[in-house]
Amino acid sequence: MAKKVDRLVGELEEQFRFLKEIGADFIFAPKTGDKPGCRPPGRPAREEILALHEKVLRCKKCPLALGRTHAVPGEGNLEAELMFIGEGPGHDEDVQGRPFVGRAGQLLTKIIQAMKFEREDVFIANVVKCRPPENRTPHRDEAARCSPFLLEQIRLIQPKVIVTLGKVATDFFVPSASGMTNLRGQFYVWNGIQVMPTFHPSYLIRNEGNRQIRKMVWEDMQKVMAVLGKK
Ligand code: SF4
Repeated sequence: MAKKVDRLVGELEEQFRFLKEIGADFIFAPKTGDKPGCRPPGRPAREEILALHEKVLRCKKCPLALGRTHAVPGEGNLEAELMFIGEGPGHDEDVQGRPFVGRAGQLLTKIIQAMKFEREDVFIANVVKCRPPENRTPHRDEAARCSPFLLEQIRLIQPKVIVTLGKVATDFFVPSASGMTNLRGQFYVWNGIQVMPTFHPSYLIRNEGNRQIRKMVWEDMQKVMAVLGKK
């Protein structure tokens, strides 16, 4: 009985911390300084990834090149164990040339911090590297033409876990007619990498008052934390 109570208290504390991180007014438990999930430095992929990103910046392989201000290759730790992959750049990302820097990006950063990582510890990218007009969903052929960049990033970074944010990114790894509610919350193995689908941060923002969705995202991230030694 006592163990059960301890476990429940622990789970509640973690959820409160997550809700605090993402803007709810609850108890906050500070991050620990340890980083057991981090890899030692020294992998040789850095130059290759930077060269790949140069190619992305010059790429005109699909019509999305016509409307972009900047291509957005992605950013973060080139030796990351954890990658977050979204659908494509939005307005703020297009202007700055960086992934997830708008409101959804700020929420993603809070989620990352709630997971006991810093944004710089992980790598963040999108399926398509240029902003679709009016933030529409990327067309299948656009995603297909852009996919070699993402596949190469994954090959070079070799993450242990990929978190897919939303349906487009999830479909890239786990093509399915099912919606996110069914797909999220469980790991899929893709080329030896654990893939965890969860809701896109913009979906959380659109459903700001819905704590059930936040709770589901936090449950998904706890599973990722467990795999990466953060729990
Ligand atoms: S979206 Fe991808 S394939 Fe299309 S122009 Fe941009 S970088 Fe090239």
